[in-house]
Amino acid sequence: MFSFWEKNSFFKYDYAIVGGGILGLSVACEILENESNAEVVILEKDVFPQGASTRNAGFACFGSPSEILSDIQLNGENATAKLIAKRFYGLEKLKKRLGSAEIGEENNGGYELFLPENGELWEKALENWHYLQDFLQEIPIFQQQKQPIFSQLSTQNIQNMGFEQIIGATFTPLESGLDTGLMIHNLWKKASQLGARFLGNMNVNHIENNEIKANENLIFQAKKIIICTNGFTKDFLPNVPVQPARGQIVLTEEMQVRFKGNFHFNEGYYYFRNYKNRVLLGGGRQLDKIGETTTEKKCTDLIQNDLIQKLDTYILPNQPYKIDMRWAGIMGFTPDKQTILKFLEKNTLLCVGLNGMGVALSSSLAEDVYQKIITA
Ligand SMILES: Cc1cc2nc3c(=O)[nH]c(=O)nc-3n(C[C@H](O)[C@H](O)[C@H](O)COP(=O)(O)OP(=O)(O)OC[C@H]3O[C@@H](n4cnc5c(N)ncnc54)[C@H](O)[C@@H]3O)c2cc1C
Repeated sequence: MFSFWEKNSFFKYDYAIVGGGILGLSVACEILENESNAEVVILEKDVFPQGASTRNAGFACFGSPSEILSDIQLNGENATAKLIAKRFYGLEKLKKRLGSAEIGEENNGGYELFLPENGELWEKALENWHYLQDFLQEIPIFQQQKQPIFSQLSTQNIQNMGFEQIIGATFTPLESGLDTGLMIHNLWKKASQLGARFLGNMNVNHIENNEIKANENLIFQAKKIIICTNGFTKDFLPNVPVQPARGQIVLTEEMQVRFKGNFHFNEGYYYFRNYKNRVLLGGGRQLDKIGETTTEKKCTDLIQNDLIQKLDTYILPNQPYKIDMRWAGIMGFTPDKQTILKFLEKNTLLCVGLNGMGVALSSSLAEDVYQKIITA
């Protein structure tokens, strides 16, 4: 039972955003930076966002050579170039909105390593090396870059970082590592400072005719609704073609780490980095794609054991370490790796399917969302 006052003042908004991850928060900022008097509410299922945005690896990245070559094969040059530009622009905007210190940025660049078991990927990268450089140079956002986007690394450089059995490596100075928790904390703070209201523990289960139903008996009304629930969307919109994809992570205790920066291997299926003097490693989803198509935030032996094997064999060989924490987060994937941005109804816009690189994409997608929703 609600009072007249509650009904009148807490359930009606200009904009309601469903999902309070990096995208939902960025959309709230975008709206309020353009319309400072708008009444904006973010309805979040958990007490604080616990989708992918608070559980990721914190790579501010735009794609590694093997991943970009594979994307070109899947989607063609135009779509791949657009996606890379969107990621790069999104990262610039995120830094501008919050500040480099506020997102805990560490600018140590990004590497792709090639393992003996992925020899064909290294061959493909070498065969297409000049093609890739030319392709990237043509993307307008990279045209002011004075240094090469990617360069090849010598065996000596790779060995100096303590890695073993690596058959090739590339480097880009344009990647950095972020402090994921700090970044979301400050984005949340920014959205609140701009005037957004964040309501946690709001499990949205139905949206129709500008009305949003949450939990058992709450009905919110909004002139415009934006759905940013990424990998969880199918829970209440089963026909939307975005699949949940679980990502698992291990984090070591503090130790002596011989490398600094972001590292990718196997077309982006694995990623590791130093976080201060710890090592964070994630990936391995390709080992059980069916089992990992889930919204359950749980780690499995199969993938955890594989991550440990990768640490022992390639990343920290002959170096003692202890695992401090393990966790899982849920991404949202679409078949063509393109984000779904479309109206479900006249005033209800869906923006889901960030395909594992939402840190980069969210700020530029938020601009697209705002432009689309104001014209509805
Ligand atoms: C292990 C892992 C590592 C990653 N590493 C990187 C990386 O290094 N770099 C990078 O760019 N990207 C990375 N990603 C991907 C990135 O984290 C995501 O693309 C991004 O966080 C997606 O943001 P989002 O806001 O769209 O979704 P989410 O962060 O998942 O937010 C969706 C929110 O919606 C809420 N929600 C769901 N259903 C409902 C409902 N019914 N009602 C109300 N609220 C609801 C959820 O609780 C959640 O908070 C990684 C992801 C994982 C899992």
